[in-house]
Amino acid sequence: MEEAQGIQVYKFGGASVKDAAAILNLCRIVRDFGPQGPLVIVVSAMGKTTNALEEIYDLAYRGADYSGQFSALATAHRATVEELMRLQLPKEADVNTELVEEILAELADALVSIDTVWTYDQGYDQIVSYGERLSVAIVTGALANNFSWNEVSKSAAKELITTNENWREGQVDWVETAENIKLNINQLVASGIELIVTEGFIGGTNTNFHTTLGREGSDYTAAILAYCLRAESVTIWKDVAGLLNADPKLFPDTVRYPEISYRETIEMAYYGASVIHPKTLKPLADRNIPLRVKSFLDPAAEGTLIHDCQHPALAPAFIRKTEQCLISFESKDFAFVSEENLEVIFGALAQARLKINLMQNSAISFSVCTDFSERRVHQLLDLLREQFTLHYNTGLTLFTIKNYDAASITRLTAGKRLLLEQRTRNTFQFVCQ
Ligand code: ASP
Ligand code: MG
Repeated sequence: MEEAQGIQVYKFGGASVKDAAAILNLCRIVRDFGPQGPLVIVVSAMGKTTNALEEIYDLAYRGADYSGQFSALATAHRATVEELMRLQLPKEADVNTELVEEILAELADALVSIDTVWTYDQGYDQIVSYGERLSVAIVTGALANNFSWNEVSKSAAKELITTNENWREGQVDWVETAENIKLNINQLVASGIELIVTEGFIGGTNTNFHTTLGREGSDYTAAILAYCLRAESVTIWKDVAGLLNADPKLFPDTVRYPEISYRETIEMAYYGASVIHPKTLKPLADRNIPLRVKSFLDPAAEGTLIHDCQHPALAPAFIRKTEQCLISFESKDFAFVSEENLEVIFGALAQARLKINLMQNSAISFSVCTDFSERRVHQLLDLLREQFTLHYNTGLTLFTIKNYDAASITRLTAGKRLLLEQRTRNTFQFVCQ
């Protein structure tokens, strides 16, 4: 089968589908700014739905009452559907209302039948993936009403993106995924479908389970699809003007990078710039597919173009990662922290699936800064308690300044108590309370 040519990929995050007005804005962007050719549209769960589902799942897993949270979630989705119907004066008087009800009923069933042989993480993927399933149903319905039911189709990400059973961060089987995507999407395009909507963040295993790709993973979904389709470009629609040197909620005077290389962007994403999921860049860079970051609030504005380019030195970028945890390991007998010890520590960190954001060692102690997850930190403590004395601090923040200068360091560190700091040629990082 021939490869589909000239396909573009758009990704709309939670904020851009948070309610009926936002979804109509999405329809307008597709209509007024969308390409001539076929377009694949990746959508996240509406607003804060993923957080809500995490909470519901956690309660259900522990056998606690989640009915209040569940009904709030169902009500928010139903209200969006009703509001869309009202605002759209629908041509065919439907925005997948029945489908949304079916998915909600399925979710209700799934919550009462969480399999006790599943690990927490496996169950998480089966439940939390409902957020995107709901939003895709609604967005597809809204688009179909704006265009026509002959031009719009949805395609389940579970059938497109095959992963292993690494729950909550499924690793992509690229060979199978490429086959699934080409077959499925080419067939839809060949049958005249112009707009194909699919779920971000989720995949499926060969054993017929859902997986998720990691929080905020919808960007990565867009990149996987683009890579496999050899798409012309990817556009991520955000509530900011493009890729900025800092979160505007953090700094009032941010600057936008009009153009930036893949390499710089990969590093920023790695350090925690929340604008793009860190795994997104590699597949795009591998196939030289340009990535645009644009504002859904101002779709005509330029945004940022991320591609293979040379540019002069960039303004310092300020990146903040909250909810960090600093863990230190001390040998119990004043012995130095040796390579053998480090091997044990790294092994345990990998087993507990804690990612190291920063590390440092001294004579008898070794410290790592990781994202905090109570469950995982306790697993780590259980694994290492016998061999090491462990201390940990939570509620910390990791700041990174990329392309720092003296002024930017002074500005960011002023008035903060630094628990750990590190400096390389281009990057200054510190952990503070
Ligand atoms: N809905 C998922 C999350 O909030 C994925 C995404 O938004 O990219 O993490
Ligand atoms: Mg989201």
